Amino acid sequence: MTTIQSFKVMKKIIYLFTFIIAFANCKEGGEHHRSESDSDSEYALNQTDEKAEFSIVIHGGAGTILKKNMTPEREAAYKQKLEEAIRVGYEVLKNGGTSLDAVTKTINVMEDSPLFNAGKGAVFTNAETNELDASIMDGKTLNAGASAGTTNVRNPIDLARAVMDNSPHVMMAGSGAETFAKEQGLPIVDPSYFHTDRRLNSVRNAKEKEKIELDHDDKSAFYDEDIQNYKYGTVGCAALDKNGNLAAGTSTGGMTNKRWGRIGDAPIIGAGTYANNATCAVSSTGWGEYFIRGMVAYDISALMEYKGLSLQEASKEVIQNKLTKLGGTGGIVAVDHNGNVAMEFNTSGMYRATMNDKGKLTIGIYKE
Ligand code: ASP
Repeated sequence: MTTIQSFKVMKKIIYLFTFIIAFANCKEGGEHHRSESDSDSEYALNQTDEKAEFSIVIHGGAGTILKKNMTPEREAAYKQKLEEAIRVGYEVLKNGGTSLDAVTKTINVMEDSPLFNAGKGAVFTNAETNELDASIMDGKTLNAGASAGTTNVRNPIDLARAVMDNSPHVMMAGSGAETFAKEQGLPIVDPSYFHTDRRLNSVRNAKEKEKIELDHDDKSAFYDEDIQNYKYGTVGCAALDKNGNLAAGTSTGGMTNKRWGRIGDAPIIGAGTYANNATCAVSSTGWGEYFIRGMVAYDISALMEYKGLSLQEASKEVIQNKLTKLGGTGGIVAVDHNGNVAMEFNTSGMYRATMNDKGKLTIGIYKE
């Protein structure tokens, strides 16, 4: 063999060797990938093992809710109403009803209570009127309905539901939405129905404070913590029913002292409300502008869908990291497709309650 010939043979051996190594690596990579998906399915298995038959969670708003500012009577009243509301949804689910019905009926109880910033008890606008927003989403079909800025529809969540069920649209606003509500036979009230002295005082205080602040340092009252905290009390619910269908809904009077037809996150699908049977159902509460910019409810679902995070991980990431970095305050309640529940907030409190399929009730107000 000449030197040239043996050089060629050597070269062939090197090529062959390189090819074998490359092939082995490739196989290893494949195996690695498989083991990754194995652990995914292991995770899914764990979740499936714990799958609840049904599940429900509610909120009654997040904010600077401190024990020192609360009387025992007031605390008891909130807890009693939260329990009354969640038991209504629990019964619907226990009897095989849909998550959509559980969400609607549970929210109705809170809308009818003056304690919460939704329905009766809604906050006032700068013009001292009440403009209400609501939305609902069906995780099975990804259908959704929403209404914004209505002034005479007693239960805005019913209007959102009617928009979803009985119209080709997803969102209606103002007088058009009110006409639709009337046509649907929903209860219409005089706008004075929504007036409560407590909320009227809040908006007057907010306006007074805003005037003083604008006079003195030109700082927008929007950034004043006291004023922000007048707004809280939005209500929301997320549920999983026995058929594995998820739903979420949110209803609110928005932010105290809002003007210019301001609309918050509550009626925005993806921000205030989102539901998808493949992932979770979410209802938000807090400083709406930030929840819109962060697409908070959808972001939680997206992290589960695209990154494989659990509901807990996704909720924590969105509320404690992303929303907080953005400067937003508030929280969410959510249920995943296995009935796991999340109640995540970055404020000092969030009115909240959850019930599992065994009837175990948990109620919370402050950060525990
Ligand atoms: N998110 C609501 C809004 O900005 C207010 C709240 O949740 O308290 O309209």
